[in-house]
Amino acid sequence: MGYALNIAKLLTDTAARVPGHVAVDFNGQTMTYGEFDQKTDALAWGLKQKGLEPGQVCVLMMPNSLDWVICYYALAKLGAVVLPVNFLYRTQELKHIFSDSGARAFIGHGQYLEYAGAVLAGMPQIDIRCATGPAAQGYTPLNEVPREQGPYPVHPAQDDDTWAIIYTSGTTGLAKGAMLTHRNLSSNATTIADMRQTDPKVTSLGMLPLFHIYGQTSSLNASVYLGITLRLWEHFEPDETYAAIEEMDDTILIAVPTIFNRLAEMAVKRPLKRSSLHYCISGGASLPVEVIKRFEAGYSTTIYEGYGLTECSPVCVENPYGKATKPGSIGLPIPGFQAKVVGEMDQEVPQGQVGELIVKGPGVMKGYLNQPQATADTLRGGWLHTGDLARKDADDYIYIVDRKKEMIIRGGYNVYPREIEEVLYQHPAVLEAAVVGQAHPDLGEEVAAMVVLREGAAATPDDIRAFVKERVAPYKYPRIVRITDELPKTHTGKVLKRSIRLD
Ligand code: AMP
Repeated sequence: MGYALNIAKLLTDTAARVPGHVAVDFNGQTMTYGEFDQKTDALAWGLKQKGLEPGQVCVLMMPNSLDWVICYYALAKLGAVVLPVNFLYRTQELKHIFSDSGARAFIGHGQYLEYAGAVLAGMPQIDIRCATGPAAQGYTPLNEVPREQGPYPVHPAQDDDTWAIIYTSGTTGLAKGAMLTHRNLSSNATTIADMRQTDPKVTSLGMLPLFHIYGQTSSLNASVYLGITLRLWEHFEPDETYAAIEEMDDTILIAVPTIFNRLAEMAVKRPLKRSSLHYCISGGASLPVEVIKRFEAGYSTTIYEGYGLTECSPVCVENPYGKATKPGSIGLPIPGFQAKVVGEMDQEVPQGQVGELIVKGPGVMKGYLNQPQATADTLRGGWLHTGDLARKDADDYIYIVDRKKEMIIRGGYNVYPREIEEVLYQHPAVLEAAVVGQAHPDLGEEVAAMVVLREGAAATPDDIRAFVKERVAPYKYPRIVRITDELPKTHTGKVLKRSIRLD
């Protein structure tokens, strides 16, 4: 087993190179790379003094903030294992995650301790407890953790050392903890940062939650590696993002399709005076071609769509930077990665045919914690089975057709919701659309669409049904169409299809 670089090396190298450059700007609270390095050294000493040992798991449960990023890199320096969780999780989710992970420490935010506190009450083994924000009984205020001065000797990571455990829902049952090593995460951040040829003067606009792997790697770690400024928000503020793009000088935007869609709408109503965007990256969910067209026209920029998943740290495929993108495609495997589209027996299918996307590369997780069977199934043959259906075109560009589990089988015919959603987005009155299967006594499943209309636009379910009917094979158009005010979504903008009920 060789040495892998500790992820904290991204920070120590950058701090040595550009100590005075602003690393993070969180609503006007700024921190240079030099300060970032010192603060993480001091906290690493403090957590060590509180008894946290290398290899022990620490839950990090708070919204995006300077404290979030300081804790993350301090834990890395110490050699602990970070377990970032969604601060909105409730008792049942937290109970499973805290006990399954064998956590030793907890760092939370005073405002979000209600459910975590109830779970921690029954877990004396988690005996290092700290909180930021409003004071909370039983938690050491993070700023009172003893801080020593001086550089912390970064714990050397072995190849196989887990750095982060990130729980992901998977297809069935309780969430599984994907074990990601220092090498997994640092290789992913450096590869994507290098391939995008980012100008060192840009500011990365970041509003993705850092507890999710996409925000962690693409917004935080890639910025730290490059030594650029991360303008961080707690969550997406449409007006502030729009203003930042218009008023700042050099920016990049790493976001999800729902954010691009919302911003595109804003620019239609109020065209920008100027756009500071060098480029944009979209991932996390499929980016409808209509949204790409509207956003790129409104913001005079290019969106490079990429694809990834928690188990992959996360990026494995992306439209190559600087080349013409193929709208609707997620691009080509990033350097170091391979991707195949395979059939039921894991045999590669010919170009153009749909199969499961499987990938191999340095970002692929070690496995799921305490889940040897799920690990063996997902990583069979040395390839990560993504559960997503895809096809390759003649240039080997990959198109995600849909999630395997979201394919609708209507009277024996396969219907891919994504295809129907793309058509719905072409309707001038439609702002957002989601297509799901609804149980049907004869057909098995019926195709059903839920749409959100643009502000001020009018269309009836019949209009929308007729629009799609004209454009797709007869078995595919949605017989059921509902108009709604909002689609249920996760923190990272994925439509929660399981939560869509049309009856
Ligand atoms: P997560 O583990 O939460 O990052 O979710 C990963 C899943 O998000 C993938 O398995 C895909 O289903 C979906 N996903 C990510 N990027 C894309 C994309 N560009 N197009 C379509 N689906 C995507």
